[in-house]
Amino acid sequence: MRGEEPVVIEALKVRALPEGSYDHLLEFLRLYRVALQMVVDRVWSISGKLSKKKLHKLFYNNLVSMGFRAHHAKEVYVYAKSLVDSARSNGGRKPVLRKLSARIDKYDYRLDLGSMTLTLKLHNGYEARLRLVTSRERVEKFRGWGNYELVVKYEDGEFWVSIYFKRAIKSLKPRTVMSIDLNFDNITIAIFTLDGRLVKLKRFKTPHRKILTHKIWIERIQKRYPRSWRFIKGVRKAIERHGERIKNISWDYSHRVGDLVAELALKYYSVIVLEDLDELRENNKKGREFNKKLGLWFYRRIQFCVEYEARERNLEAIKINPKATSSKCPRCGRKLAEYGYKVLRCRKCGFIGDRDVIATINLYKKYVSRYSRCGVPGVALNTPKPDENPSGMQGNRDEAMKHIKLYEPI
Ligand SMILES: [Zn+2]
Repeated sequence: MRGEEPVVIEALKVRALPEGSYDHLLEFLRLYRVALQMVVDRVWSISGKLSKKKLHKLFYNNLVSMGFRAHHAKEVYVYAKSLVDSARSNGGRKPVLRKLSARIDKYDYRLDLGSMTLTLKLHNGYEARLRLVTSRERVEKFRGWGNYELVVKYEDGEFWVSIYFKRAIKSLKPRTVMSIDLNFDNITIAIFTLDGRLVKLKRFKTPHRKILTHKIWIERIQKRYPRSWRFIKGVRKAIERHGERIKNISWDYSHRVGDLVAELALKYYSVIVLEDLDELRENNKKGREFNKKLGLWFYRRIQFCVEYEARERNLEAIKINPKATSSKCPRCGRKLAEYGYKVLRCRKCGFIGDRDVIATINLYKKYVSRYSRCGVPGVALNTPKPDENPSGMQGNRDEAMKHIKLYEPI
């Protein structure tokens, strides 16, 4: 491996159909299992440290004389060692290998994603050709990635291949900052330029009320059968059904939000700023609201999907302590007062704005002040002075509210 570049590794697991006879492939898998067990037995009996060099010395010649290629041999002893290490660290017994499966190094296979074929180099110079059974789309994703290892498995009369792909991450230099405020009813997303101009504001409704309805149903049933609900099949089933709905609604929603957010961030080259939920108890008002109604799991799930989708696109997502972000004036820093439904006003400077939008501005400001101090490139320039505001937020109610009347469909 070159350098210290961070990499993403992903496995593609697909069924594979042998083209022609697969006798040699099965023979190879059996031989591989025998060899692996032999090395495991031996390594298990050695108590001292085993370097790669030592492993090589102990097993290489033996394995090659069994008909394995050089890199087969290496894979066998490295894998055997890792099996023993993990069994030992769990206090387990000596591993006994039952499955027919082999790890194969990139030098011992040829993968052609165009024709979806895989050629494996086996023992004694044999080869096996397999056709990968999967959709184009699944494979398409890995074009341009490197692959370096695979595992081939024989199970219930079928061959399965897991191919390990990797690519280097080169984080994009952010040109804008996207801050995201999670609330009970909605998610507010704001994108700011690095010099503080608001360029995009979006708001999505959350399915929290729907989730809450199912939760209330569960509680109601449990209350009616306080001791017995676990043991009456019909009651338990009813509870499970509501639980299942909650799970589906929340994952479904999180995936879609993650995807939408990351696509938008990619379009604007944004760094994504999320609230650090672990710090939420410091943000008293919001913390209470979250905990009373639902707990944090749903927000974590949404954030998980946002972070995942961001990583997939080489975008950075960072978390910032949300303390006071929904209660402080973004212009002068004073505590804001309620001013109608979800609207807050500053008594000192007269700033008026939507509560959730204010939270996104404050998150943005926190990000900028934190990273301009640390000198993150690209962000240090043109940060707003303390008395300046991101434009569109100039204390005029219409300005602060105007883009956000409509919910985006999701
Ligand atoms: Zn103010």
